[in-house]
Amino acid sequence: MPRSAWDFLNAEIVACRNCPRLVGYREAVAREKRRAYREWTYWGRPVPGFGDHDARIILVGLAPGAHGSNRTGRMFTGDASGEFLYSALYRAGLANQPTALHAYDGLRLRDVFITAICRCAPPDNKPTPQEQANCLPYLAREFELLKRARVVVALGRIGMDGYLRLLRGQGHLPQGVEFRHGAVYALGPGLPALICSYHPSKQNTQTGRLTAAMLDEVFRKARKELNRKDSKDTGGK
Ligand code: SF4
Repeated sequence: MPRSAWDFLNAEIVACRNCPRLVGYREAVAREKRRAYREWTYWGRPVPGFGDHDARIILVGLAPGAHGSNRTGRMFTGDASGEFLYSALYRAGLANQPTALHAYDGLRLRDVFITAICRCAPPDNKPTPQEQANCLPYLAREFELLKRARVVVALGRIGMDGYLRLLRGQGHLPQGVEFRHGAVYALGPGLPALICSYHPSKQNTQTGRLTAAMLDEVFRKARKELNRKDSKDTGGK
């Protein structure tokens, strides 16, 4: 089978070593492992985007979890954040199963693609501004390939800031956007709508800052935006 533009992009991402601190960390975590996963061969490399290449809803997260995606090699797979997120996608009819255990568990997303600002697990989940900037071109190239994108759901403030930085780099000037959970912004003609959500990290879900009902509401809003855009495209007929 001929290799697609996605294959080329993902191969480039997976081979990337542009951030020395993150390369050192992701590989050290993969060598040392967590006791519960000592039988695993950790992925220990950058994690490419995952999901439906024809998706209209694009989720932009922060970065792989050290013992989640950095272990399994698939976005939001193998940790508590992913459990919370994929069960919400399943309830919303956007995933075929509520769980994400490993890269070959049969999970399929419908109309959703998941990506992140940084592809390598950062210490304390905090990539530096330079590391975020290093990784941004990969996000730009994914969006070039995601031709049907209509709604971007930013999972957390860093996701939102990174996506806005990407738009500014492309000459767009989104105005008046502030991070507020549940806020919906029309960013301009031809651009996907932006919806902000708290990140489904353990710190947010275990403290009740982000509940399942709140995340369900985010995906209801995403669907509403799709319907609104569809009806606009057909002149409301
Ligand atoms: S974070 Fe991005 S730019 Fe940095 S090493 Fe990983 S893949 Fe490369």
